[in-house]
Amino acid sequence: MRAVVIGAGIGGLLASSFLVKSGYKVTVLEKAPYTGGRFTNLNYKGFGLSTGAFHMLPHGEDGPLAYLLKLLGANVTIVNSNPKGMIFYEGKTFHYREGWKYLGWRERVRAVKLLADIKRNKLPTGEEAETSGRKWIREKIGDNEFVDLFIKSFLGWADSVLDVPAGELAREIKAALKWGGPGLVKGGCKAITGELARITDEKGGRVLRRKRVVEVDADAKKVITADGDEFAYDVLVSNVGITETVELIGRDSFDHEYLKRVDSLKPSEGIKYNVALKGEPRIGNTVVFTLDTERINGYNEPSSISPELAPEGYTLMMFHHALHSENVKAEQRKGIEDIYKLLPNLDEEGKILLIQTYLDGNPVNRVASGQTVGDFPIQDVYVVGDAYKPPGGVEVEGVALGVMKTLERLGISRFGEWYP
Ligand code: AMP
Repeated sequence: MRAVVIGAGIGGLLASSFLVKSGYKVTVLEKAPYTGGRFTNLNYKGFGLSTGAFHMLPHGEDGPLAYLLKLLGANVTIVNSNPKGMIFYEGKTFHYREGWKYLGWRERVRAVKLLADIKRNKLPTGEEAETSGRKWIREKIGDNEFVDLFIKSFLGWADSVLDVPAGELAREIKAALKWGGPGLVKGGCKAITGELARITDEKGGRVLRRKRVVEVDADAKKVITADGDEFAYDVLVSNVGITETVELIGRDSFDHEYLKRVDSLKPSEGIKYNVALKGEPRIGNTVVFTLDTERINGYNEPSSISPELAPEGYTLMMFHHALHSENVKAEQRKGIEDIYKLLPNLDEEGKILLIQTYLDGNPVNRVASGQTVGDFPIQDVYVVGDAYKPPGGVEVEGVALGVMKTLERLGISRFGEWYP
């Protein structure tokens, strides 16, 4: 059986690794000269920045991505964050647990009950599942500013959106209760995608770089690249998004209803600020959710467990926020103001190295969390990656869950207990 994978992002490489392991003859076609897509390292002035992600897995060592990596025998080290999170509020940074004190006793009782319900799989359904997640939390717990700001910064950091439907939020909370908080990847994103490319290669798969797919002939079951090469497939896995895959096949091959759903999909967009600071690590392996800020939703410090990501004597921090408007300049100005609020001595202690904006053709996620279009309707064609994240799957954990679903549909493995 021949499998062709379009795009060597983390979804494509996870799929290719499992496909080679299951005996498929795999060819990965990647348009860029490097693999890893938005999940690899980007060397910049001696710092190991990333092409997209924060060098962090939302559920660390115990989440779905770590599980798939274990199944593959991938040689990667993920270190769970400790504490799982911190909070910046009223000018102070503290352990997330201390946040409970900002809830009145009635609100606390309601919050504990809500968490217990979510854990027991009592999740919103029907219309309730479609309402605003933040509004749903207010209705369940009470109109508490701290709680709303916490949910907002969690969503801005984790999903790069300002809100998600209640059904999605409940599943994301359930996932966090089940698999715990985040963890940093030793060596950064590339330690994972580089290892997956190596596994694909080692088991006899081919990873071809500088091969841009320009057309998919779904009737003849072949893929055509910009340089005129053709690759026949029995199974095609696309890591380049739903809309893009539809375009490669040709819109004529899809019914009107499906196209309408595809055209209504919204991406998530955001800005990441890479900051270099002189001296020792500041916060260590954790995430600070920033509540007292106009734009920034959170930040972490990847060099705290991977000193090689910063030159000697420096530490590397990544700040992120969801976009509030299309005015990128104004968004960046507000983001920078927030960074100075969080690091008042930044000019003496370090600097903002690089600002990366993820929008248009290079969004944070091609399909923002909480939207679904169902399985790809063309036979033997599967979409993986950030356009195919099952409910509750945050970022790369969602990508991993989508790959699990794809492997199930291909009859390669079963992962039933993994879906939140
Ligand atoms: P990501 O952006 O991390 O989801 O990964 C997607 C990968 O697909 C990136 O490495 C892109 O360079 C690659 N890619 C996007 N479009 C094409 C295409 N038409 N042919 C081959 N590779 C592509």
